[in-house]
Amino acid sequence: RRKSCHPHPPLCCASSPEGSVSKAPGPLRSSLRATSVSKSDVIPAGDITSTPIPEITDVFPELHTHEHIHQFSLDHPEEFWGQLARSRLEWQREFKTVTAHEPEKAIFRWFPDGQLNVSVNCVDRHARHHPDRVALLWEKDEPGQQEPITYRQLKDEMCRLANVLRASGVGKGDRVALYLPVSPLAVASMLACARIGAVHSVVFAGFSAEALASRIQDAGAETVITTDQAVRGGKVIQLKQVVDAAVAKCPSVRQVFVGTRTESQVKMGPKDIALDKALSCEGTECEPAVQDAEDLLFLLYTSGSTGSPKGVAHTSAGYLLYAATTHKHVFDYRDGDVFGCVADVGWITGHSYVVYGPLANGATTVLFESTPTYPNPGRYWETVARLGITHFYCAPTALRLLLRYEDDWVKRYDRSTLRVLGSVGEPLNHEAWHWFNDLVGEKRCTLVDTWWQTETGGIMISPRPSAPGAPVLPALPMRPMFGVKPVLCEPNGGVVEGMGVDGALCVGSVWPGIARTIYGDHKRYVDTYFSPYKGYYFSGDGAHRDQDGYYHITGRMDDVINVTGHRLGTAEVEDAMMEHPDVAEVAVVGFPHEVKGEGVFAFMILKDHTHESTEEIKNDLRKLVRSKIAGYAVPETFLICPGLPKTRSGKIMRRILRKVAANKPGELGDISTLADPTIVQSIIDAYNENR
Ligand code: ATP
Ligand code: MG
Repeated sequence: RRKSCHPHPPLCCASSPEGSVSKAPGPLRSSLRATSVSKSDVIPAGDITSTPIPEITDVFPELHTHEHIHQFSLDHPEEFWGQLARSRLEWQREFKTVTAHEPEKAIFRWFPDGQLNVSVNCVDRHARHHPDRVALLWEKDEPGQQEPITYRQLKDEMCRLANVLRASGVGKGDRVALYLPVSPLAVASMLACARIGAVHSVVFAGFSAEALASRIQDAGAETVITTDQAVRGGKVIQLKQVVDAAVAKCPSVRQVFVGTRTESQVKMGPKDIALDKALSCEGTECEPAVQDAEDLLFLLYTSGSTGSPKGVAHTSAGYLLYAATTHKHVFDYRDGDVFGCVADVGWITGHSYVVYGPLANGATTVLFESTPTYPNPGRYWETVARLGITHFYCAPTALRLLLRYEDDWVKRYDRSTLRVLGSVGEPLNHEAWHWFNDLVGEKRCTLVDTWWQTETGGIMISPRPSAPGAPVLPALPMRPMFGVKPVLCEPNGGVVEGMGVDGALCVGSVWPGIARTIYGDHKRYVDTYFSPYKGYYFSGDGAHRDQDGYYHITGRMDDVINVTGHRLGTAEVEDAMMEHPDVAEVAVVGFPHEVKGEGVFAFMILKDHTHESTEEIKNDLRKLVRSKIAGYAVPETFLICPGLPKTRSGKIMRRILRKVAANKPGELGDISTLADPTIVQSIIDAYNENR
């Protein structure tokens, strides 16, 4: 069916900024052909001549303080977001209406009569103004193999890919599943979908065939984009084989585009199309689809820490505006910076802060394909030094892992370019905060602990934005973002007022990035987020508002432990225990207790070379928890285990530990989203040995 065309360089190996094609060596051959790229080759060439993104005070000059601006955003959301949407996004048709919500039905609409194309906002307008600025800095698995992709190149590749999809019958509203390594191809695929109005559903390329199949089926995707293989941490992952196994269970799929990452020979079936060949037949111009602001942009299945995955649905203009605004103001992003968010594009953090936020702002964004410890625990900081990264955004699980190694892994690399550090995904405990802030950031960077969710589209609570010079305190996200009104609720639904209080963390305002529905199941959306506390969005997390009005996340509400009527969040107990020098990682859960209702059960991993005996450590931990929190919070039981059950995004799955602690190993539920399901049996074995 397809004509044979001139060879096209694989997208994963995009051409160099000068336009010459540099085919990157495959990972297995990289040591033979390591290219050394000097810093000056890859850093955006200081092209900051285009209009920088306006500061918030430039947009609202009549509001003099941060507090005024925040209050204004809550009191006048239409004016606030309307003005930002006009000044920061490029519209195909200007909107007249800012919001048309129907809160009683949990229907939210931002800029409903406006039209824009997300890909134009993320690529074309920058390619117009600064075509040679680096858009993507692809940090491949092997260190020293980075590749820059300019805005001009990104536009060309995105358009080619969009043309391929269009020519293959993919149209507006069609769902396309992406199962790809962190790569320019992944970004171009997301944007190509946006270009033609298709809806992407990125599935983390570490999920099993079964997990991929269930996501493809739920979305009703007919098209899949993947690559031959992926490489991560020096290991080759057989992506195409996983897709084959998944597609065998998905009759809806009619075509699978197979891109190139390692150039290994993979078996091609009747539904498979070689992507490079298809790309070589297409041109670099592609008319963008005219998109309503509320047209679906993507579906993303949550990581599944708490239950069965939900297809969280985000739409176009509101999501993009929120991602761009938070990227700019939480991180104080400025033209010329190199934004390093090391999340995988398969998670919401990758969507909002690797792809959409940075690109909407015309930024240079890093695509990190590797792991924190490959080839050694200095990888992050070596990458920072080599690429001149100014912003480094990662997850607490990585920090907790890295701080177990010698400080020298950090110190030996030049980190002087770093200005802002960020963390997301789980509570950031004090020990990890100090390691990140004091050692990595040399106490001169701003560290933002950012609280948000797949469903919120972007950062909701974080130390910045705030008034110039306002304090940043350790291990708490502190302050609500513009347009966000946190509300704490009692278990019975009443609002908890005042300071020094705890409650279920809800949001009492509607922000542009809020997910619009759970795909195909609006009732589940209503039941999950809007029914528990009438009139509010319920996050599922608990929080504490301290005497200064700052927010602390206490953990997931499902994980709250009720000891003799005291409601105890997991984060606080774990934070206290992590202060012990011999404790590498800990998770606490509640278990049924005859007298107290529930007792605290602590699962912990000790560091390799502990200084004390196990009994001494336990005694110290009892003292620590008693002194930092209270006697009732002291764990009844400590279990030393070889590992903790974590999702593929690195989050501890406490619901499994609760079953182990209750001695109900037969009721674990779905463990398919665990990174390493075998760890569960070793925890059960440790439990049985210690009973
Ligand atoms: P699922 O909803 O399927 O159980 P998930 O909640 O892990 O999965 P995400 O949307 O990726 O999926 O994660 C959001 C959650 O991560 C938050 O609700 C919160 O529990 C936790 N979280 C994120 N950032 C922070 C933070 N800075 N501090 C504390 N917790 C955080
Ligand atoms: Mg969640």
